[in-house]
Amino acid sequence: MESFGHVIDGEEVPSLDGATFESIDPWERAPWATVALGSAADAHRAVDAARRAFDEGPWSRLGHVERGRILHRLADLIEERGAELALADTTDMGKPIAETRGHDVPRSAQNFRFFADHARLTPAEVFPMPTGHHAYTQYDPAGVVAAIAPWNFPLMMETWKVAPALAWGNTVVLKPAEQSPASATILARLALEAGVPPGVLNVVHGYGPRSVGEALTASPLVDRITFTGESGTGRAISRAAAQNLTPVSLELGGKGANIVFADADLAQAVDWSIKAIYTNSGQVCLAGSRLYVQESILDEFLARFTAAAAALRAGDPKHPDTQIGPLSSREHFDKVVGYLDIAEQEGGQLLTSGAPDGWSVPPTVVVGAPQRARVTQEEIFGPVVVVLPFTDEKEAVDLANDTPYGLNAMMFTRDLARAHRVSRALRVGTVWTNCFFVRDLRAPFGGAKNSGVGREGGSYSREFFTEPKAVVMEIDER
Ligand code: NDP
Repeated sequence: MESFGHVIDGEEVPSLDGATFESIDPWERAPWATVALGSAADAHRAVDAARRAFDEGPWSRLGHVERGRILHRLADLIEERGAELALADTTDMGKPIAETRGHDVPRSAQNFRFFADHARLTPAEVFPMPTGHHAYTQYDPAGVVAAIAPWNFPLMMETWKVAPALAWGNTVVLKPAEQSPASATILARLALEAGVPPGVLNVVHGYGPRSVGEALTASPLVDRITFTGESGTGRAISRAAAQNLTPVSLELGGKGANIVFADADLAQAVDWSIKAIYTNSGQVCLAGSRLYVQESILDEFLARFTAAAAALRAGDPKHPDTQIGPLSSREHFDKVVGYLDIAEQEGGQLLTSGAPDGWSVPPTVVVGAPQRARVTQEEIFGPVVVVLPFTDEKEAVDLANDTPYGLNAMMFTRDLARAHRVSRALRVGTVWTNCFFVRDLRAPFGGAKNSGVGREGGSYSREFFTEPKAVVMEIDER
């Protein structure tokens, strides 16, 4: 069994009360690592360390060049130790190693490189004033950041928060999800190796409610809370943060609409639509889990789509050829299987080439469920797509907008004017046309409606992780 501690003030430490928990490998359905189980006391210890490092330490006062050098060194180490990091996430939560190694790890290194460079290169505003004054913006680090992450892209989501926070001079307390703790400890070890000073990046393991997560969000010593997870948890965090008026950035759930128009390149649409729902077994906030297909091509699309879904290679996520691994935990498997029952009760028919086995669910297509069905409206977070027909552009937009979520949408069409029209009409944070999951880290990322509050990425991250200060001075002689 491997062992992972908290990392607080530059030391890997056990919990104050010595408590531990086991991280379960969802493919083996057996424990593979012992992890320190933190309590509120451990969270407070980490916040104190981060506070001290921010108030007294050199990090917040280092220039962007020196901080950037250290963060680039950390990116180098993430790449060098990519195999270890990828295996940690794959073993913790079952994502195929081809994805953790081929996508999540490189993107995690890229997060540090991008935000280090962005912080170094982004100019601040100057406001020449006709009144004989001069004004400019100074972007001060905000202070102590609490970063609370989900289990579906463990390292990648953690670095998406930690990298801009550190690049802008903050100190961080990171709480990974208890289903996927390992890579966070490895990241903190690597950060120390790269030269990030003690107390600047702290990791505390443990649960959210009535424990580490709640202690972080209720702490008056925390200046920013960045959270990715379920919309319900986002509400709880907002309530806790309101006590201290702590600013929060919330990236929450989704129920992505994927609209396939009759003029689309069908092969391209099928290929992307498969990736959009079955990547990471559908445990993706951005998943295209509602597939709206124009009536005239529905039969042909479905035939191609179900054949492609059946051809996906399911199995051991540590095998390099595997495309579909198990779901992340027993609890989550039960939730997803529960939705298969609900789909049938709601009049849906399940098109699938297999049956649930272990904690794995085969790629599943639901046809015949109505728009207002729970399976069409609620986030299942599994390899389950609901397919519905539409007749024209207006109906497609109305159906796509008809959920409480507004994270993202996809569309497939060759009609350029329509692509712009529909993009404008969709109430979501991101629209992809003829592609999926393509990101420019300068672009805003976040959700509308119940999918989030605020945006991160590029200057949006600067806005959140700094305290923009207006500096005004008189320059005319009296
Ligand atoms: P959860 O909301 O259950 O948990 C996310 C994190 O919050 C975990 O670390 C959890 O701790 C912690 N937490 C739970 N309750 C509290 C609380 N009261 N106070 C502070 N922290 C708390 O989400 P999941 O981990 O189940 O992740 C899946 C969800 O994340 C999906 O809804 C998905 O859509 C969303 N997501 C959104 C993304 C986006 O960018 N919009 C991207 C990726 C995922 P613990 O579980 O350890 O107790």
